[in-house]
Amino acid sequence: CSSTTPITATLFPGDGIGPEIAESVKKVFTTAGVPIEWEEHYVGTEIDPRTQSFLTWESLESVRRNKVGLKGPMATPIGKGHRSLNLTLRKELNLYANVRPCYSLPGYKTRYDDVDLITIRENTEGEYSGLEHQVVRGVVESLKIITRQASLRVAEYAFLYAKTHGRERVSAIHKANIMQKTDGLFLKCCREVAEKYPEITYEEVVIDNCCMMLVKNPALFDVLVMPNLYGDIISDLCAGLVGGLGLTPSCNIGEDGVALAEAVHGSAPDIAGKNLANPTALLLSGVMMLRHLKLNEQAEQIHSAIINTIAEGKYRTADLGDASLSSTKLASKPIPDLNLN
Ligand code: NAD
Repeated sequence: CSSTTPITATLFPGDGIGPEIAESVKKVFTTAGVPIEWEEHYVGTEIDPRTQSFLTWESLESVRRNKVGLKGPMATPIGKGHRSLNLTLRKELNLYANVRPCYSLPGYKTRYDDVDLITIRENTEGEYSGLEHQVVRGVVESLKIITRQASLRVAEYAFLYAKTHGRERVSAIHKANIMQKTDGLFLKCCREVAEKYPEITYEEVVIDNCCMMLVKNPALFDVLVMPNLYGDIISDLCAGLVGGLGLTPSCNIGEDGVALAEAVHGSAPDIAGKNLANPTALLLSGVMMLRHLKLNEQAEQIHSAIINTIAEGKYRTADLGDASLSSTKLASKPIPDLNLN
C-alpha cells in the first residue's frame, strides 16, 4: 500500500475502557499522519439473529470487506445466555491464530529486562468451542475439540512466523501426558510441520513446567505455539512479566488475509470511565496493524514514541506505578511529549 492512499480499517471501540483507549489511538494516528480511515462499529444492544450475538452482521461484513481492523475489549457476562462477542468474531471471521508479542520495555523496570517472546494461540477450537451442556442435574460437560486441520494451520503459522521474523525456536506447549488424544493430536501436527523447517529448533514443553520456566527465566523461550485455553492463560502470564495487561498487544490472523488487532486485556470494568486506563496495549496493537499494512514508517514512529514516553518516566499511568497521572489524557498531550517528530 502506498502511505498516501487512505486505507479503510474497521474499528470496534468495544466496551468498558474500550472507547477511551480507542479515542487515544485515533488521536495518535491522526497526529502521526497515518493514512487510515476508520469505519466504526459498536456492539449492539440486541441480539442479531444472523450472528446470534450482539455483534451485527454488518460489523462482521465490515471486517470481511476491509480485511483489517482494530478491536477494543468486549465484555462477556459470565454464565449468561448469549454467545461471546469475541468467540463470534473469531469463529465467523475464522481468526485462527492470535499472535501476542511480549517484550521488556526499555526504561520500565520489572523483575526481568530480557523478555522477548511471541505466543501464538490457536483461536478457534479447544475448550473454547462453545460446546457445553448439562448431562443430568449436577453434571455438566464441556467438549474440547482439537482438529488436525486447525492444529496444522496454527503450527504452520507459528513456524512461518519464526522463519520470517528471524526467530530460532518454536516451543509447542501441551498437556499431552493427560490429554493424550486432543493435545496428542496437536503435538503430532506440530511435529509434522517442524520437519519442514529444519532451520528452526523445535521443542515440546508441558504447560505446568512451561509456567514455572516462564516465571523463573522467560529468556528461555522464543516462539510458543499452543491450543486455545493454554494460550489465553500463558499470554496473560507473559504480560505480567513485562508490566501487566496495559502493555501487551495482539493481532488475530484469519485465513483469507484478515487481520484484526486487539489488546490482550479485557474491558476493565473496575476502572472504566475513570480515565485510568492505559492505552499502550491498544496503541501497540494499532502498531501491529500498521506493520501488517506495511505502513512501516508510521508504525516505527508511533512505536518509538510509546517506548520513549514510557522510558522517559515523566508520564506514567497508574498501572505502571504513577497513581497521580492517568491515561488517555497522555494521547492529547502536545506532540513533543510523544516524540512524534
Ligand atoms: P481485564 O483484562 O478487563 O482486567 C484485569 C485487570 O487488569 C483489572 O484490574 C483491570 O483494571 C486491569 N487492566 C486491564 N486493562 C488495563 C489497561 N488498559 N490499563 C490499566 N489497567 C488495565 O479482565 P477481566 O476483569 O477478567 O474481564 C473484564 C471483562 O472483559 C469480562 O467481561 C471479560 O469477558 C472481558 N474480556 C474481553 C477480552 C477481549 O475483548 N479480548 C479479553 C479478556 C477479557
